[in-house]
Amino acid sequence: MRRKLAAGNWKMNGLSAALSEVEALKAAHPAALVDILICPPATLVSSAAQATPGSPIAIGGQDCHQNQNGAHTGDLSAQMFADCGATAVILGHSERREDHEESSEIVRAKARAAHAAGLVSVICMGESLAQREAANTLDIIAGQLSASIPDDCTGENLVIAYEPIWAIGTGLVPSLDQIGEVHDFIRARLERRFGAGVGRSVRLLYGGSVKPDNAADIFRVSNVDGALVGGASLKQGDFTPIIRALEDSI
Ligand code: PEP
Repeated sequence: MRRKLAAGNWKMNGLSAALSEVEALKAAHPAALVDILICPPATLVSSAAQATPGSPIAIGGQDCHQNQNGAHTGDLSAQMFADCGATAVILGHSERREDHEESSEIVRAKARAAHAAGLVSVICMGESLAQREAANTLDIIAGQLSASIPDDCTGENLVIAYEPIWAIGTGLVPSLDQIGEVHDFIRARLERRFGAGVGRSVRLLYGGSVKPDNAADIFRVSNVDGALVGGASLKQGDFTPIIRALEDSI
């Protein structure tokens, strides 16, 4: 039985005052029936982790370097995130793949580093609008799956987020059939590569314009184990109805 996960990606948003949103989430969900993960900017990871000990809210990073340490000015290692209280890290978000030209091979190396540091990797993948319109979505996902996911994955250290690039921050959402088709495909590929045990235990999140008013429908789709939420995770008042919809889907 996969435990559902509501993950929030704050991206490059939030100064120290935004920690009040973490406090508000903690107060709103003292005994959540699902896992909750907040990935604030790196500057807030330590204080967010210190604000949530023993609560159902875990804190994660949004990226990490593939090396443990060294001459990589401005980068942060997986060990550094673990050291300041993070338990997970988002990897391969399309904004990193585009803005920083991150290949799937780099994402895979980062995931290995994350796992070695004891972090859960939340590995993102998804097609562009042009790729969807050319009916290439499943080929793109197959390629990203085989190149981005390392061999050391388990149901405990890997979460996959299907995030169509054209749905991120746009208000556009694939049809429920389209989401289901991709999630079923990812599940089948995982089972084929890792066997039924691991393949069935990895959680699959949908991400891309998840909002309080569409979350319940999305959570009814097969093989959707939760969501990776950008904009609607910034305010507790928006994220809580999504978390509740996920709890209602159990
Ligand atoms: C994201 O960037 O991971 C995301 C899903 O953003 P939004 O929910 O704002 O579309």
